[in-house]
Amino acid sequence: MIPYGRQEITDFDIAAVVNVLKSDFLTQGPVLPCFEERVCNHVGAKYGFAVNSATSALHIACLALGLGRADRLWTSPITFVASANCGLYCGAEVDFVDIDPQTFNLCPKLLEQKLLEAEKCNALPKVVVVVHLTGQSAQMAEIHELSLRFGFSIIEDASHAIGGKYQGDFVGCCRYSDVTVFSFHPVKIVTTAEGGLAVTNDPAIAERLELLRSHGITRNPALMTHPPDGPWYYQQIDLGYNYRMTDIQAALGLSQMERLDAYVARRNELAERYDELLSALPVVTPFQHPDSYSARHLYVIRVKENSTARSHREIFECLRNQGIGVNLHYIPVHIHPYYEGLGFRPGQFPNAEQYYREAISLPLFPTMSIEQQDEVIARLAEALQS
Ligand SMILES: *Cc1c(COP(=O)(O)O)cnc(C)c1O
Repeated sequence: MIPYGRQEITDFDIAAVVNVLKSDFLTQGPVLPCFEERVCNHVGAKYGFAVNSATSALHIACLALGLGRADRLWTSPITFVASANCGLYCGAEVDFVDIDPQTFNLCPKLLEQKLLEAEKCNALPKVVVVVHLTGQSAQMAEIHELSLRFGFSIIEDASHAIGGKYQGDFVGCCRYSDVTVFSFHPVKIVTTAEGGLAVTNDPAIAERLELLRSHGITRNPALMTHPPDGPWYYQQIDLGYNYRMTDIQAALGLSQMERLDAYVARRNELAERYDELLSALPVVTPFQHPDSYSARHLYVIRVKENSTARSHREIFECLRNQGIGVNLHYIPVHIHPYYEGLGFRPGQFPNAEQYYREAISLPLFPTMSIEQQDEVIARLAEALQS
C-alpha cells in the first residue's frame, strides 16, 4: 500500500532522541525551550508553547482568549473535529461557516454574511478558528478585517500548514491572528510523534498559554498573591491541565525542523508534477490562491458528479483495492452523530457537503518516489475509465 502520508525518521532524529533518553531530564528539560524557540524563529512569532497535541493547543488557545459558557466559536465544517471540539470543551456554542468551493477554506464572504445576521440578534462569535486546509492559507487579510469590524478573536488552525506562507510571510507569524496552532502528529509536515504548539505575539495571551498547559501553576513571584513562602514555593492561580510535551518529543521535533523547508519544497514539486500529469484526466486538481505558498500537507482532487462512468465511492474503493492509500479529508464535522445531537443537520453547509461527495486525497509525502507517484497516477487513470 502506498500510504496517503508518511513520516521520515533519520539517524539524526534517532540520535537526538537517544541523547535525551541518556540525559537527566526526560520531560521539562533543556530541549523543550530550544524547540519552542526554533519554531518561533522559523515562523516569525514572539512566543511559542509546545504541548502534547494540537488539540490541547486549540483548547488552551480558546481559554487564553477567554472563551467560556454563553460564548460562541465558529469554524469551518471541512476540518478535523478538533477545530470545533475545542469550543465545546470550554462550554461555548459551536457553529460553522461554509467553505469556498475553490480553496476548501472558510469563505470570507459567507463569514461576512453570517456575521451581519448574527449581529442583528446579538449572537456574534467570540472566537473564529480558521483552518488552513491542505496547507494552503485561508484569506487571512479579509478575515482579519472582519474581526476588527465585528470584534472577534482569531485562532489559525495551521495543523496542515507549518512551512507554508501567506502574502510572503510564514504561517504562524500571527500578523492577522491572535494565536496560531501547529500539529506534529506523524502524518503532518514535521513530527514529534504526538505534539502541538501554540504561537502568539501577545504577552498576555502567552502568559495564559504557559499557565494553562501546566495545571495553572506558576513559579513567577510577580504573578503570586503574596511573596513566596520559601524556595519550594509555587502557586496555582488558575485551573489548567497537564498538556506538557516531553523533552524526548521536543528533541525529535527540533531535529525534524532542520528539514522543514526541504520537506515543503519537495511536497510542492510532487504536487506540481501531479497537476501536470493529471491534467489529461477527468478530475479537478487543487486550486492555489496567489497569496498562498501551500505547505502541501494534502493533495486533494475532486471527481465531479457525472463526469465519469463510475461513482466517487467506486473510484475510491478501486484505488484502495489496488494498493493506493487514498483518504478523504474530511467528513463535514456537522454531520457527525455527536454534532447532529447538538442540532446540526445535513443540508446546512452545502459547499462542504458537495466537497465531501467529490474529494479524494492522493498519496503525498516527501520521501515518495517518482515511481510511486506514477503508480498512483496509472491506477487513478484505470479507476476513472473502467
Ligand atoms: C491533525 C489535526 C488536528 C489535531 O492535531 P493533533 O495534534 O492530533 O491533536 C487539528 N486540526 C486539524 C486541521 C488537523 O489536521
